[in-house]
Amino acid sequence: MKVGVIAVQGAVTEHIDILRKAMNELKIAGNAVPARTTIDLDDVSGLVIPGGESTTISRLMFDAGLQQKIIELAMEGLPILGTCAGAILLAKEGDEEVQQTKTNLLGLMDISVNRNAYGRQVDSFEVDLQIDEIGKRPFKGIFIRAPTIEKVWGLTSVWAEYEDTIVGAKKGNVMAITFHPELGDDLRIHEYFLKMVLNQKPPTANRV
Ligand code: GLN
Repeated sequence: MKVGVIAVQGAVTEHIDILRKAMNELKIAGNAVPARTTIDLDDVSGLVIPGGESTTISRLMFDAGLQQKIIELAMEGLPILGTCAGAILLAKEGDEEVQQTKTNLLGLMDISVNRNAYGRQVDSFEVDLQIDEIGKRPFKGIFIRAPTIEKVWGLTSVWAEYEDTIVGAKKGNVMAITFHPELGDDLRIHEYFLKMVLNQKPPTANRV
């Protein structure tokens, strides 16, 4: 199994490290690698879009032709996990700031996001999250200038909530998390994602 991490800006190595640990834990023979070009995406069976600065990541992805390729691969069923800025980019709709900065959204999920929902004063915070899909033990959510998911519709469902806000959503093979699961040492979200990768059709099955 080869999982790519979009490596144009942001928390790339953290995702690569934790994906490798999670593969080890699940006894999956595979690797996590940085993806910078469309060629890097040719043979991946899963993809992570990390946190960082969403406008910057979107511009660099667009310039490298990654945007179009990611959309095509997602349509073919490639499992994709977007965290924080990555979650913003997966959305169909964004708030005023997203619109004003002309951030290119991939539009892969029926969600609308508020890019800096917690305001600029609250830089970061940590809370215990109860996420049914990964078991009873709370997951430490690390939020850094985090967005929120304002609403979900269509085929997208809520995957995680904190108080009254949606902090995780899933639509088939695509998942958005507004916090940073790669910064803690709890592997469960990455393991969950790797299981999605394992359960998909072979990566080359429907690619030419
Ligand atoms: N709020 C940031 C943005 O707009 C995302 C922050 C993050 O990824 N840590 O891009």
